[in-house]
Amino acid sequence: MTINIKDISEKDRNAVLHPFTQLKDFATGKLGEPTIVETGKGIRIQDAHGNQFIDGFAGLYCVNVGYGRTEVAEAISRQAYRLAYYHSYAAHTSDELAILSDRLVKMAPGKMSKVFYGMSGSDANETQAKLVWYYNNLRGKPNKKKIISRERGYHGCSVVSGSMTGMSFYHDNMDLPLPQIVHTGVPHHYWGATPGETEREFSARRAVELDQLIERLGPDNVGAFIGEPVLGTGGITPPPEGYWEAIQKVLKKHDVLLIADEVITGFGRTGSMFGSQHYGIEPDLITIAKGLTSAYFPLSAAIVGEKVYEVLEDGADKVGAFSHGYTYSGHPIGAAAANAVLDIVEKEDLPGNAREVGAFFQAQLKEKFAQLPIVGEVRGVGLMAAIEFVADRDNRKRFDPTLKIGARMSKAARERGLIARAMPHGDILGFAPPLVTTKAEVEEIVGIAESAVRFVMDELTRDGLN
Ligand code: PMP
Repeated sequence: MTINIKDISEKDRNAVLHPFTQLKDFATGKLGEPTIVETGKGIRIQDAHGNQFIDGFAGLYCVNVGYGRTEVAEAISRQAYRLAYYHSYAAHTSDELAILSDRLVKMAPGKMSKVFYGMSGSDANETQAKLVWYYNNLRGKPNKKKIISRERGYHGCSVVSGSMTGMSFYHDNMDLPLPQIVHTGVPHHYWGATPGETEREFSARRAVELDQLIERLGPDNVGAFIGEPVLGTGGITPPPEGYWEAIQKVLKKHDVLLIADEVITGFGRTGSMFGSQHYGIEPDLITIAKGLTSAYFPLSAAIVGEKVYEVLEDGADKVGAFSHGYTYSGHPIGAAAANAVLDIVEKEDLPGNAREVGAFFQAQLKEKFAQLPIVGEVRGVGLMAAIEFVADRDNRKRFDPTLKIGARMSKAARERGLIARAMPHGDILGFAPPLVTTKAEVEEIVGIAESAVRFVMDELTRDGLN
């Protein structure tokens, strides 16, 4: 299909309210034309001008099986022809939904019992909050409602999930966060540790801070703690050694539920099927989205552990039906897409690929970037990684934010055919390529990234800033 680029651009500028876009700069053309992404195959996408890019971020850490997987497209089409939709209220189901749920309960870490479906990571975390509140109401603990999340954690941008997100720019002018959501310190060793503090010492300190926060709020007022096994949007940062072990001890002590937000880490990204397995996390509730369907269809879920579910079922005679659900909860096309994607994840052992190719990727990034004078830290796990740029390595000092180093790195990479994302909280270039990425493709990604970084370094030298 040939498209009229001018016509589409005009229509877009006139009518689309784009997320995370400076509205005036877009409206006035300062940001240039919208990028019309037209096709995708493997780890590459192509725009309407025919420019190809390696998608080093798998869309938004989600197209794990890569683009153009006909198996998934066919599963979606088959289901759409057979039965495009029916709801899952009042015990209605589809074969695809029942099969998917059985599969998820069996493959998920911890003792999981049931799966509740939504359409996005945000709404799934909204569900998690309601489950925590409902659970504690049924247990006769009506005050045990506060949910603790971490600064720099990302959990979505709807009202509750946006409150859980620990980034002020998601709250400012949006009347968030809600008072039920409280934030604690981020497990970011590079920026948070005191001089000489080991990862274990730093983790222990974060756990003590959490313990003190719960004591201050009152353990009877704290219902849950939510965290990503690996910090994602907050800077792609694996937890410091001993972090989850120390945190879980505190949560157990105070009877506080643990929600593992596996929206990014679920289905192989860390090299294990779930990030919880990678870091010895035993969650009570698990949030999944993105990789569940590799974004071929919007589908998310709150996986409910036995401990929580039993209370819900026991309380049913008292409260009646579980009054929560969306028109699209358990959408049959989403379930068919997820089953087809999970077939690929299992058959092609994508967690194994993320482990093996990921180890190569991490080693390559360290080798090429860690010693550069403007690089503070190269970090990551599996097929998620970040390079953090700093003005002063020895004193851990950031660049002046007006220099926009991260954004310039990302732009330079894009101009060379690689999508790598500039992340908030400093100058960070993030990578999360599809889990089907090969070693040869890793070499390509790292090669382009290197050329982009050197280009920006040369600019800084030219401007006398480095
Ligand atoms: N949780 C995490 C860990 C995420 O990374 C994201 C999205 N980046 C979300 C929740 C929200 O998902 P969605 O954008 O589908 O609402």
